[in-house]
Amino acid sequence: MPTSPALPLIMVTNDDGIDSPGILALRDAMTAVGRTIVVAPERDNSAVSHALTMSRPLRIRRRNQDTYTLDGTPTDCVVIGLGKLLDARPDLLVSGINPGPNLGDDISYSGTVSAAIEGTMYGIPSVAFSLVGEPPYDYALAMRIAITLAETVLADPLPDNTLLNINIPAGKACAGMVITRQGRRLWENSIQETFDPWGRRHYWIGGGTPLRDHGEDTDVAAIHKGLVSITPIHLDLTNHSGLHLLRGTWDLDRMQDKVGPANRGHRDNT
Ligand code: MN
Repeated sequence: MPTSPALPLIMVTNDDGIDSPGILALRDAMTAVGRTIVVAPERDNSAVSHALTMSRPLRIRRRNQDTYTLDGTPTDCVVIGLGKLLDARPDLLVSGINPGPNLGDDISYSGTVSAAIEGTMYGIPSVAFSLVGEPPYDYALAMRIAITLAETVLADPLPDNTLLNINIPAGKACAGMVITRQGRRLWENSIQETFDPWGRRHYWIGGGTPLRDHGEDTDVAAIHKGLVSITPIHLDLTNHSGLHLLRGTWDLDRMQDKVGPANRGHRDNT
């Protein structure tokens, strides 16, 4: 008799902290797909990017059987979760749901996306979810989209070294989904000048106006059109056309001559 396949094991994390409504929504959504284990930061870690804590020990607290918090970053949660907390290798890692977009260049700063990057580095299929809109956030549509994407990724594996960055426009209904490339998203006037009560000048990074990329096939454009953006992200930061260009045009021998002759004495000096 064929045995029924085991429930997929799904690790859930985020960058907004364990008490964020977004991770509660994502955990609830994933219970429709498999067995979930939550490992999330104790506090908000938005915009910590791919930081790994190496200067102090990390404290783990178990909230209940399948929920852990850690006084560290999203990347710490993935490293400790996969290495020490989960009793098996997860079939899927999901991060989010972030309240606010992770589009274009902003992906570099994102803790939400970085958790999925870390999962991908361990070979776990990983998906980052962000909800684009204004508070109060309604996660109902994003939860349905997360379920559909999780089921799709479990059934039809992602390419190697590739994660998905999903941005979902706020709303009651899904107007459509589109596979996109990462766009550009530069910010204007995002450094605010403030003064403390003693008149000392400070700078506060935040706010400003995003300058939109005009590529029609980008994540930024998809969200502007009200569509769910699905961007495959890979971990190889090499610019391959740049690699060929530099190899074809740079005179490394001449550069070497400018630096000086190779120092072989050190190696030979035994
Ligand atoms: Mn966040």
